[in-house]
Amino acid sequence: MMRKNYLTDSYVYYAEERAKRPTNFKKLHIKNTPREYCPFCPENEYMTPKRIYATDDETIRIVPNKYPFAKPTDECYGIHDVLIDTPDHEERMSMYTDEHVGRLLEVIQMRYNDLKKDEKIKYIQVFKNQGIDAGASQSHSHWQIAGLSLIPEKILKMTDKMKQYKEENGKCYFCGMDFGDRVIEENKHFIAFCPYDSLFTYEMQITSKRHIRDLGEFSTEELHAFAVLLRNCVKRLAKMYEGISYNVCFYNAPKDLEKYTDMHFHAQIISRIGHMAGFEFSTGCYINSVFPEIAAQRLREIDIK
Ligand SMILES: [Zn+2]
Ligand SMILES: [Zn+2]
Repeated sequence: MMRKNYLTDSYVYYAEERAKRPTNFKKLHIKNTPREYCPFCPENEYMTPKRIYATDDETIRIVPNKYPFAKPTDECYGIHDVLIDTPDHEERMSMYTDEHVGRLLEVIQMRYNDLKKDEKIKYIQVFKNQGIDAGASQSHSHWQIAGLSLIPEKILKMTDKMKQYKEENGKCYFCGMDFGDRVIEENKHFIAFCPYDSLFTYEMQITSKRHIRDLGEFSTEELHAFAVLLRNCVKRLAKMYEGISYNVCFYNAPKDLEKYTDMHFHAQIISRIGHMAGFEFSTGCYINSVFPEIAAQRLREIDIK
């Protein structure tokens, strides 16, 4: 079976049999990088550039990325931060309390709003890589916030598609979405679901019930509701596959909100069970080994109490 992803125009093949393929590769079982060399542990703060911000209790810190892909001094201006979201080397986001994960989102929003004030920045990407298969170089939990002086092609495409959808259907792509039997969990302000056209195995998305364009528009109550749902989603993954690597990506409207008014904020959680390989790189098509309807059912049934 094949579906076309609406927002990216990518084709995705669903092939459940592929999940059963035997493999002779031994899984790497390195769950943690050594604590003594960890630049994100509080006692090793001297290893990172001078902090930009810390909460009063020092549980959340923001530092400039020591190895930035974009710098203020570059021709292509940019700011690249690391947000260390726990002082505990072993603690994962799936283990955070409601209070801590809510505070984390408040800090992310604060920094997002700071970067928006920078005239040279046009788009801000917030993301998290957890685990070696997700591209993380440190196992200690952290996020990255990148302020870019350009709007990435994928984001422009997404905003165009949402605008097109609104013109053709008279409603917002997410506000008017029929989630069918693909809902995982919802609360007063947000809904977590498996998209009909998921590109990745067990892909989850979280979107707001209100038409919110970017993180700056969240109320404190909404930030906390979103935070709890996000923590619950990664907890479901962690319960399904212990030590799983995953990425969290936030999709915000570019900074000029009035121009990109149709963009609806959403977060994507990508479990790194399968890998992008030759077929994906060469064709731009994807292979997903679990139908989104089945993925949603399995994720929903996981006990996260
Ligand atoms: Zn550490
Ligand atoms: Zn909307």
